[in-house]
Amino acid sequence: MRTVAVVGASLAGLYAARALRAQGYDGRLVIIGDEIHRPYDRPPLSKEFLTGAMAEDQLALSDAEEESELDAEWLLGVRAQGLDTRGRTIRLDSGRTVSADGVVIATGATPRRLPGTTGTAGSAHLRGVHTLRTLDDARALRAELTTGQPVQVVVVGGGFIGSEVASSCVALGHHVTVVEAAPLPLLPQLGDAMATICAALHADHGVELVTGTGVTALRGTDTVTGVLLDDGRLLPADVVVVGIGAVPGTRWLKGSALALRDGVLCDDGGVTTLPQVVAVGDVARVGSSRAEHWTNATEQPAAAVRNLLAGRTVETARPLPYFWSDQYGVRIQFAGRRLPCCTVRITEGSTDERSFLAVYEREGVTVGTLALNRPRPFMRLRRELARGCRTPAAAAAAAAAAAAAAAV
Ligand SMILES: Cc1cc2nc3c(=O)[nH]c(=O)nc-3n(C[C@H](O)[C@H](O)[C@H](O)COP(=O)(O)OP(=O)(O)OC[C@H]3O[C@@H](n4cnc5c(N)ncnc54)[C@H](O)[C@@H]3O)c2cc1C
Repeated sequence: MRTVAVVGASLAGLYAARALRAQGYDGRLVIIGDEIHRPYDRPPLSKEFLTGAMAEDQLALSDAEEESELDAEWLLGVRAQGLDTRGRTIRLDSGRTVSADGVVIATGATPRRLPGTTGTAGSAHLRGVHTLRTLDDARALRAELTTGQPVQVVVVGGGFIGSEVASSCVALGHHVTVVEAAPLPLLPQLGDAMATICAALHADHGVELVTGTGVTALRGTDTVTGVLLDDGRLLPADVVVVGIGAVPGTRWLKGSALALRDGVLCDDGGVTTLPQVVAVGDVARVGSSRAEHWTNATEQPAAAVRNLLAGRTVETARPLPYFWSDQYGVRIQFAGRRLPCCTVRITEGSTDERSFLAVYEREGVTVGTLALNRPRPFMRLRRELARGCRTPAAAAAAAAAAAAAAAV
């Protein structure tokens, strides 16, 4: 291969570029990113960066030395607008095109927005309403939260990002309400019992959690003043943060030959319907699943790049799912899969102390683990689960369970 283009200059894109060089690719490497920034880390944006405990320069994912070693052409502040049907030419919004023998798609995901808050023609853009995905989003939110005065913050969505933002707002002295449409936040990921315990963290820290109702409208003329709920309640708000999930960044691929369905469809090795195009990170639906987690975005690229260079799938890339979240001084970690009919059991610690290790079991087999503030035993069990995933019996059991889950 003479030219490989990586589209998306963030976590998965950087790991793909590193993997290309580490695997001996010495051709032209072009990295295209629509943000003006070099790759930076997103997890702190809802945590230490928002509270001011981490400075902007600490977010960088690489340094000048590594960037010079990568020997890549960085096209930043430039959006890819199309990939031709053979997957060999990328059209950019600057009018330029980039031709490549291999393409790595790493365009991540963008936040879902509440209708009426996007600022696009025909809908009102209210000051004080935020989503949080990029450094620029985080700068804007931080500026509003650090004026010195306690304000009323409403967080729409009680998932990981919403909960972390709520936690950071409390640390900054604000009054916070979290609105969650489901009966409990994190229900699909954790199941009823464990989601109840994680939800209690909000109450522990004086945050009101309103569940089982969505948002009808935001109130305000230029600046947001309130959030009108489906059940008729009006919550006063000076700042609203919308954290209702993200959609994979595939819009630019419409009209290409790639199969798209909630992400770029790939085989287990990250290879798309075109062998010279692979996808990694939040945008990639690898096998039958798509993950929006940091570790996944760092673990997939090595295999995807190997397959790209080989011209066919020679390695699979489905690491054991793992994520963490930091809320109210508690580190939440989860690894594995919560399958239907799982039972959950606390194996050490206590839920009252918000410090415990739990295992998810199906037919006597551990398929997942959750920890609150128990990083060491959790990591041990995570390693065991990852090893277990590789035994044929466990792989067959996991495949059967996943098929059963897909059929539910
Ligand atoms: C606030 C926040 C907190 C998080 N906290 C955690 C956490 O605690 N734990 C955890 O496991 N995960 C966390 N995550 C998730 C983790 O950061 C993501 O899984 C990871 O960033 C995915 O990397 P990616 O490279 O696939 O996508 P992204 O990081 O989204 O990068 C994609 C890049 O591609 C660019 N792009 C998109 N379309 C185009 C285009 N057409 N042309 C050019 N460029 C394009 C985007 O602007 C972006 O720069 C968090 C995410 C956020 C936003």
